[in-house]
Amino acid sequence: LRPNPPQAGRLALLQARLADEGVDALLVSRPENRRYLSGFQADDAALSESSGHLLVTAEKAFLLTDFRYQEEAAEEAPGFEVRVYPKGLADLLAEILPGEGIKRLGFESDYLVHDAVIRLTRALDGIEALPTLEIVSDLRAVKDDQEVEAIEASLAVIEEVVDGLMARLEPGMTEREAAWWVAESLWKRGADEAFETIIASGPNAAKPHARPSDRRLKEGETIIIDAGARLDGYCSDITRTAWLGPPSEKFKQVYAIVRRAQLAAIEGIRAGLAANRADALAREVIEAAGFGQAFGHSLGHGVGLAAHEAPSLSSLKATPLTAGNITTIEPGIYLPGWGGVRLEVMSLVTEDGCRVLGGLERFYNF
Ligand code: ZN
Ligand code: ZN
Repeated sequence: LRPNPPQAGRLALLQARLADEGVDALLVSRPENRRYLSGFQADDAALSESSGHLLVTAEKAFLLTDFRYQEEAAEEAPGFEVRVYPKGLADLLAEILPGEGIKRLGFESDYLVHDAVIRLTRALDGIEALPTLEIVSDLRAVKDDQEVEAIEASLAVIEEVVDGLMARLEPGMTEREAAWWVAESLWKRGADEAFETIIASGPNAAKPHARPSDRRLKEGETIIIDAGARLDGYCSDITRTAWLGPPSEKFKQVYAIVRRAQLAAIEGIRAGLAANRADALAREVIEAAGFGQAFGHSLGHGVGLAAHEAPSLSSLKATPLTAGNITTIEPGIYLPGWGGVRLEVMSLVTEDGCRVLGGLERFYNF
């Protein structure tokens, strides 16, 4: 049983960390973490409908799943001993763990639901179930070259699709029609939506996470287009803000401030910079222009196997950035009743700066 590279290297890193985390084994339940370590691709239909779990000990790696997934588990995760649980996860763990000498089992406390933890605790006699946080997501936050390539490929797809959409936006098209065009175009290119596409026009664009509605696009309004692809498991995430017809002075003014904020962040982000300082680089520009209250979300987030992952470029996080982080840089200004502007690029953090990914930085130059 030998995992494929790069999973083998990731697994070894995790195994080396178990003792420091105070556990003998880790139960890995989050789908992106499972995939990262093993190659097993299945998603979870819901938090309470798991497709499987990894059990990683210092020496061994198991993939625990149910009957439905045993075939792909064996194909996709060659380094893992696949075990099926006919009576549920807790029963199977109670069977395996004593033989492996496990006394302290870590679980992912930010994913495993409370009921599953209760059942684990009841089934495990003399074995402690201990909450852990972000062990695998910390590993995932630093991308290897292969992942950077996969993310760039995903980004190329969404850039092409968003370009295509920008070219066909016209008054009368509904937000939902535009969103559907994005979804269909991704599907035709062998990709999926990394998240539900946001097409928000006019006053809807003042809501950062508006859902596409039957509202028709009009001239003289902002239109926020926020979309991402998922290709071979890897996500992308970009936002452009469009305007149909001759741009108003207010649109030009707000747009230019957001763009300046974004450029300030691109200029200053580098390995070692604290995440909250990265956020402040852009926020200070928007505040100085008098729109501080209108930028109510964080500057950005990591992107990889998940559309939102570590690191978070948030005013609440002082964690330093690391070379190999891929993060979005997405300042915005939202004005209720008027609309909003958000501009989002993806960037790779390097030792001495950051590199904006993708072939296109197609922003208006106001
Ligand atoms: Zn986005
Ligand atoms: Zn984003």
